[in-house]
Amino acid sequence: MTSDRHEDPTDTPNEETLPVPPPFMFGCDQCAALLVGLAEKIRADVGCLDQQLFISRHIVEAHSDDVPAPHTRLCDICPSYAGRPDVAILWAEHRARDLFLPESIARLL
Ligand SMILES: [Zn+2]
Ligand SMILES: [Zn+2]
Repeated sequence: MTSDRHEDPTDTPNEETLPVPPPFMFGCDQCAALLVGLAEKIRADVGCLDQQLFISRHIVEAHSDDVPAPHTRLCDICPSYAGRPDVAILWAEHRARDLFLPESIARLL
């Protein structure tokens, strides 16, 4: 199997493939509202890229302790952002995407 990288960042993830969000997101009103907004966009099959960006930005700003560690495999983005202070926030937002998106979509941005 070759890696399946045909997806576009603007692709709408399939609701069934969404991961179960971590408990801290359910404990935060803003996360909960953002997740509902994302699910609604997905259900309506309209673009949800803005919603993805709102959520990752909110996680980095409000839950910086919960941003996942850098990916050590199957990620082209982590190695290219590592050790670059100029993209530190972008990198954290990239890692935060894992928390609420399927891996194939999370790692596109
Ligand atoms: Zn939150
Ligand atoms: Zn990564």
